[in-house]
Amino acid sequence: MCGIVGISDSPQAAQLAHLGLFALQHRGQESAGIVAAWRGELRPHVGMGLVSEVFTRAALQSLTGESAIGHVRYSTTGASHVKNAQPLLFKTTHGPVAIAHNGNLTNAARLRRSLEHRGAIFQSDTDTEIIAHLLAREPGPLEEAVIASLRQVEGSGCLLLLAPDQLIAARDPYGFRPLVLGELGGAFILASETSALNLLKARYVREIEPGEVVVVRGGKVSSRKPFPPAPLTRCVFEQIYLARPDSLIFGRNVQAVRREMGRELARQTKGLKADVVVPVPDSGVSAALGFSDESGIPFEMGLVRSHYVSRTFIKPSQELREIAAELKLAPVHETLQGKRVVLVDDSIVRGTTSMKIAKSLRRAGAREVHMAVSCPPIVSPCHYGIDTPRDEELIAARHSVAEIQRFLEVDSLNYLELERLLRAAGGGDPAGFCTACYTGKYPTPIPDFERTAKVRKGRKAAAG
Ligand code: SF4
Repeated sequence: MCGIVGISDSPQAAQLAHLGLFALQHRGQESAGIVAAWRGELRPHVGMGLVSEVFTRAALQSLTGESAIGHVRYSTTGASHVKNAQPLLFKTTHGPVAIAHNGNLTNAARLRRSLEHRGAIFQSDTDTEIIAHLLAREPGPLEEAVIASLRQVEGSGCLLLLAPDQLIAARDPYGFRPLVLGELGGAFILASETSALNLLKARYVREIEPGEVVVVRGGKVSSRKPFPPAPLTRCVFEQIYLARPDSLIFGRNVQAVRREMGRELARQTKGLKADVVVPVPDSGVSAALGFSDESGIPFEMGLVRSHYVSRTFIKPSQELREIAAELKLAPVHETLQGKRVVLVDDSIVRGTTSMKIAKSLRRAGAREVHMAVSCPPIVSPCHYGIDTPRDEELIAARHSVAEIQRFLEVDSLNYLELERLLRAAGGGDPAGFCTACYTGKYPTPIPDFERTAKVRKGRKAAAG
């Protein structure tokens, strides 16, 4: 998962991109970067860490120019290392080109092997670099080379490409990841989410459509749809968890969608007796509000989130591990004492975090804990740019709901049914979403994964 932003036709392009990245920080915290176009050259500044850590005043001042693209990264392919930080910058036969990508190519391994056999030397481990090598081999102009290279890749992705004289944006034909176009006093803005447009006080123009390629050049925007149409499979997990509640994703406000998911969950569990509805902050808050709206059970912030916990915290003993569990989410004893609690979260992945949270509510005096999850059980990994673990680590891939309930030590466990989820996500229209992590039905071929699975199976058979 990553966030991307592009600015064209503004004397403050890099500054606007920098602010835009702050509004997309939730989509990636491992690295950040901006490349700006200035007098026929592209100038980069990328680094590891948060946007606030990567950009000093001097670094930003060095990024002069009227167009820029930026990226925040959460790695799904390639290690968390500065060589994989984006935007990636290349010198090609088309001139200098910078690329920022949000998504995952499902035939990356095959393409990479084939490019390496033909002499390509890769500088990073990312699948994004494959696009650069492909377009460098295509004849010009750049726009045609980009389209020809995108015809060879499979999977999900929104792309921004910056050249000294143009900004190109593309969204894959399935529409997995979101990308929007905005306008600010003559400047054009492309971003993963409208949270970036809102912060910049830009006007929301529209979504970039699945399979659309947009070129901003000489103060004008042109658009075309050069790829064969594909079934619409927007990532429903964007609505459930990934995107910021103030954003419009696939044309609908995320906060409103999550609240409706919570209402659906309350309708589904009608008759559940409880005293308070408590969200797992932050992403469970909107669904918990909806649950409370519909059920009439009062909403309470029974867990308080600390934003200051180091990600590298070392947990040396069992005793300290229990303390560590409450470092991030602290239960409010006075709110929970003697109460029957509906604990609302957006998803359960491995189950260990939910189990620790449920335990901490009991330690704080909760009489009953009923877990309500605003999506169905996650039974399959994502191959389209979300860092869900392999199926061996997904608790719902190996265990029934009753077994998970016993593992979590909760009094009841309810997952939102798929049909209700899709109805909420689509504003009544359940069509046009990817649901592969809940159904195991992938909307595209996933050759890299299928090959790895085959190799693993072969090894197992040989060993057995
Ligand atoms: S598999 Fe799940 S997380 Fe991945 S794109 Fe599909 S809905 Fe989104």
